[in-house]
Amino acid sequence: DRSLVAALTAPAPTYSFEFFPPKDDDGEAVLWRTIADLETLRPTFVSVTYGAGGTSQERTVRMTARIAEQTGIRPVGHLTLVGQTKGEIESVLKQYAAAGVDSVLALRGDPKGGPRAPWEPHPDGMTYAIDLVELAAEIGGFEIGVAAFPEGHPDAESLDQDAEVLVAKSRAGAEYAITQMFFRASDYFELVDRVRARGCDMPIVPGIMPILNFGQVARMAELCGAELPREVLDQIEPIAGDKDAVRATGIELATQLCRDLLAGGAPGLHFITLNRSKATREIFEALRADGLL
Ligand code: FAD
Repeated sequence: DRSLVAALTAPAPTYSFEFFPPKDDDGEAVLWRTIADLETLRPTFVSVTYGAGGTSQERTVRMTARIAEQTGIRPVGHLTLVGQTKGEIESVLKQYAAAGVDSVLALRGDPKGGPRAPWEPHPDGMTYAIDLVELAAEIGGFEIGVAAFPEGHPDAESLDQDAEVLVAKSRAGAEYAITQMFFRASDYFELVDRVRARGCDMPIVPGIMPILNFGQVARMAELCGAELPREVLDQIEPIAGDKDAVRATGIELATQLCRDLLAGGAPGLHFITLNRSKATREIFEALRADGLL
């Protein structure tokens, strides 16, 4: 069983799937079906995002632990600083370790008021993701990943400062990064160039979110500071009233983005699934038919 970093630095591209914590037991049942379905594709890893509320955070930790214990898939445990003391954060790291989750994605998290609200650390908590990287490295035994932003984090002063933050996280012990969603391959490659120019060779895995529902993706993209480029809008806007056509075009655009990323040397693809397997499977199968995965 190779380490995640070994997989990310091997010639064959990795592929992985991201889920969000379901709100209730029905949602959890749907998610287990999705995970069972996607397990047959033998992903490199899967992950469940970490929300802002206590019960949602508990569900994430429980589901991530269960993936480690009951499936053949490697989970990556997401963890944020939102609403928690340093001691609570440390305790989650220990729960992950106890369940055999040996890779964590160390994140600051978004403020409870949403990605555009001002960030206020918990009074007894930590301020930046790098603090969590340091804590996880101090505890030891984890492969640590971090977030990266092809278009820059919304609060970053500049793309260069944003790249400095990423390189600092790598120097603090992060061994790989996964990006925020984006829609232009050049934004990803320019981020990689900025990081390499600073002497950092950490693998940066692009995060892929297909446009299946235009309104939903436009809202999510706006919130996290990802721009829907004109060339994408020109294809989607004329058909915006036709759900099936939007979905088909969204899948085609995402598939083409994946082709361009792999052709340019991306180490793998991380699919944001929104807890449904069908679209991800369609993109995956198109790439496999091309011999890319
Ligand atoms: P940081 O690295 O702390 O950066 C936050 C801001 O502070 C940036 O503007 C940065 O430039 C600035 N900064 C950082 N360090 C310093 C410093 N030393 N001095 C000055 N400025 C600094 N959110 C969730 O809530 N749950 C999830 O599960 C989740 N999963 C994600 C998965 C991926 C792949 C990605 C890309 C994002 C995810 N997010 C998640 C969103 C993420 O938490 C937000 O984007 C958050 O706003 C920034 O997190 P970060 O880890 O990059 O923070």
